[in-house]
Amino acid sequence: MFLTQNLKSTITPFPSKLWLSSPTMHGTELKYVQEAYDTNWMSTVGENINEVEKLASSKVGCRYAVALSCGTAALHMAVKLAGVRPGEKVFCSDMTFDATVNPVVYEDGVPVFIDTEYDTWNMDPAALEKAFELYPGVRVVVAAHLYGTPGKINELRKVCGEHGAVLIEDAAESLGATYQGIQTGSFGDYNAISFNGNKIITGSSGGMFLTDSLEDANKVRKWSTQSRENAPWYQHEELGYNYRMSNVIAGIVRGQFSYLEEHIAQKKEIYYRYQEGFQGLPVRMNPFDQENSEPNYWLSCLLIDEEAMCRQVRGEQEALFVPEHGKSCPTEILETLAKYNAEGRPIWKPMHMQPVYRMNGFVTREGNGRGKTNAYISGGSLGQDGRPLDVGMDIFHRGLCLPSDNKMTKEQQDIVIALVRSCFE
Ligand SMILES: *Cc1c(COP(=O)(O)O)cnc(C)c1O
Repeated sequence: MFLTQNLKSTITPFPSKLWLSSPTMHGTELKYVQEAYDTNWMSTVGENINEVEKLASSKVGCRYAVALSCGTAALHMAVKLAGVRPGEKVFCSDMTFDATVNPVVYEDGVPVFIDTEYDTWNMDPAALEKAFELYPGVRVVVAAHLYGTPGKINELRKVCGEHGAVLIEDAAESLGATYQGIQTGSFGDYNAISFNGNKIITGSSGGMFLTDSLEDANKVRKWSTQSRENAPWYQHEELGYNYRMSNVIAGIVRGQFSYLEEHIAQKKEIYYRYQEGFQGLPVRMNPFDQENSEPNYWLSCLLIDEEAMCRQVRGEQEALFVPEHGKSCPTEILETLAKYNAEGRPIWKPMHMQPVYRMNGFVTREGNGRGKTNAYISGGSLGQDGRPLDVGMDIFHRGLCLPSDNKMTKEQQDIVIALVRSCFE
């Protein structure tokens, strides 16, 4: 069914780039944007904003939603509500996009990274438990659902509960994904979703803060509009932010919302076509808890079996590999895809391996990983003995994200599959 090696020589680069995940628009968005224009609500106030907040809170199942300029702003507001103080340590997902973590630093908090588990590629509850042993008194945890796959959120929430910690759920990538039938973005005390251009639905930008607390939602409404007091003049008693969503952006999000399920269905189909197409290869797809969760399948990823990895070395800015028969590595696959004008991407490089966070703590389920692994000082994607030292480093080393665009045709996906297969020949 899929193209074979003989056919590979006939593959030509995609005439227009095959994206990792690009916006998929439907036209409905324009109607709401036009409405904003026609009614002159070209501002951070208006009907689209009100409607998008209603749509988000009813979809996710949180009582209150506040539309903001981006997901990062929502996370920042969450960290502020949690009352993170200068120098205070906060436990954070390690293998995630840095927007999960940066807001902690905006408030002068200090992220301590928690290693990843192999079952869902998210924060490991056992490592989180260990972190509370090593750093008793930590009050705030920020956990993300990577690539639209729900993490072990009930276990994480339980560990947080046992230690009286506030949970901030970063559901930026996982809108529509469920855990035990419950929407991600509703498990935390404070939750964030994103409508960035590459997310499952988009406003071109935009984000949403979600909570069940009316008081906290109202604080975010106030803070995000420069903390204006109810006075005839600009009166300010607290620090403010210009974080509100625009009514034009909200129009796009509003139009996209009714296509969320359609997008998820398309992404799901892509995921399972890859899985089928890779049969017989020494790889597996990004895993999820099949019993308890339904991802939104935002990105399809693969992980190469350890024995099938050719040698690959990554520095801070570039990567090299040694081609080998029957083996491959993310660098080889990504370079092959790029040659044919298809966009893949390495796994989000874990935070504990990022130079900007080199001084921060890192906890694995065995204990304090930082002292043991020195992931940053060892310089690359592996430890000094050439082997990964923790789960995040291992998945980063062996994994990659595949083109997962909703608009990719079956024929195009067959070619991607053939290209990946060719790397193992
Ligand atoms: C996209 C993303 C964010 C930030 O959302 P923006 O809307 O781009 O600010 C936060 N966390 C994760 C995991 C993301 O993927």
